[in-house]
Amino acid sequence: MSLSKINLLSDNPNPLVVNNFIGGNFVKSSKYLDSYDPSTGEVWAQIPDSDSDEVDEAVRHAKNAFPMWSNKTAAERAKFLIKMAESIEENIEILASAESRDQGKPVALARRMDIPRAALNFRAFAESICHHLNISNGIPEMGCMNYTVRKPVGVAALISPWNLPLYLLTFKIAPALASGNCVVCKPSEVTSVTAWMLCKLAKDVGLPDGVLNMVFGTGIKAGEALINHKDVNVISFTGSTNVGRHIGQVAAKSIKKVSLELGGKNAGIILDDADLSKVIPATINSCFLNQGEICLCTSRIFVQRPIFEEFVQRLVQETKNLKVGPPTEDVFMGPLVSQAHLEKVKSYIDIARKDGATILCGETVDELSLAAPHNQGYFIRPTIITGLPDSSACMQEEIFGPVVCVSPFDAEDEVIERANNVKYGLCSAVWGQSGERLLRVAHKLHVGTVWINCWLIRSLDMPFGGMKESGIGREGTSHSLDLYTEETTICYKFQ
Ligand code: NAD
Repeated sequence: MSLSKINLLSDNPNPLVVNNFIGGNFVKSSKYLDSYDPSTGEVWAQIPDSDSDEVDEAVRHAKNAFPMWSNKTAAERAKFLIKMAESIEENIEILASAESRDQGKPVALARRMDIPRAALNFRAFAESICHHLNISNGIPEMGCMNYTVRKPVGVAALISPWNLPLYLLTFKIAPALASGNCVVCKPSEVTSVTAWMLCKLAKDVGLPDGVLNMVFGTGIKAGEALINHKDVNVISFTGSTNVGRHIGQVAAKSIKKVSLELGGKNAGIILDDADLSKVIPATINSCFLNQGEICLCTSRIFVQRPIFEEFVQRLVQETKNLKVGPPTEDVFMGPLVSQAHLEKVKSYIDIARKDGATILCGETVDELSLAAPHNQGYFIRPTIITGLPDSSACMQEEIFGPVVCVSPFDAEDEVIERANNVKYGLCSAVWGQSGERLLRVAHKLHVGTVWINCWLIRSLDMPFGGMKESGIGREGTSHSLDLYTEETTICYKFQ
């Protein structure tokens, strides 16, 4: 079996033509959508505008492959997943460069974060499924033993967003396949290219036909057809809260299992004993990495009053030094993902201005001049805002870009109340030196993850997910099994 570098771009014209992957074959669509290079605004790929017939065909192939795939042992399935991990690692350069061109993130970031994590997803779930222990419990007084068995659910619909395209999609594919399901994926229409490349790798490593299917296109057409399909048994969705709410309603009507990983409005809390030499660079990372287009990015910073002035002055100074430019170059930030998203992010800066804020650096404050063709790209400088009331839309709603609002606080109880006072509950980061204070604050935050003196570090064995309108369910090597399998309890009475 070949695990060599494969030519993922072979036979493709400019712009690239992406095709659906159904039943082990690349299938042409009758209609295509343009996909833009966000650093130039030019069309660089065309992706299928799939309809319900194409979705139906993909689900049919997944359903047909299910008996074969689910009857394999966990170790047999794990072998395929390990090969996928190795193949991703072999092809890291081309995957990283495609992810960067499609999404706008610096290629160095894709090489360091997105693509290695996609490989890790396959490896981690391959290993964990082979070591999974079912629950067992003896009842000696009744002469019985209870134990559970886990069964795959069937056909899984996996729907992913545009910010970490391959990273998040493989975090769904790997556990779904490891536990014996067959999948139909619908990646974001804005960033489809690495998902299509992944199908080429799957074919190359010999993943059986129909186990992994990919339909590209819009949420309103391909996505709707998928979530409403009668033969889809489980839906795993990562994306915005509004779409998640709708998917939850559709799933409820047909009693499909569902997991929702949604938006956030994450707080960074800087206590007055924090070491600013460490906190400032880490906070800049947490606000602006991936152009601030990570659901876990910090978008509100609360700083204890004695260090507020110094914190803001140093944060602004270091942020102004960040390099923004073409993602193929040595930059910290590339362009935002799309023209529409750039307009959305700018509209929040306008709201901040109307709400009386001071824009300390960023859009229309610092100059950003780029040579052609990048002068048509969707660039914006990292933006820091102060002086907003907590009631401002900028302090309440998800902006999902390189914009952060900074505000002072006095007491611990006050900051806990203000940090929790949003509809979201995804994550927070707390910075300081006194362990007692840090834990006191961390334990009272209503979020799925609290980082103390760090950000974005997580073992895949730990549960990941959000509270309140940030989602339902948890993902992780053991927690994802709750979504992708059903448990049967068996009670065996000894004769
Ligand atoms: P989105 O909700 O617009 O789209 C996400 C996916 O859903 C896309 O593939 C889209 O085509 C599809 N979709 C849209 N409408 C659909 C419908 N009616 N039926 C089925 N599918 C549909 O989100 P986005 O703009 O792509 O991504 C940004 C959002 O994702 C942000 O809110 C961000 O916080 C969130 N996000 C959350 C996490 C997390 O783990 N909690 C991770 C990354 C991104």
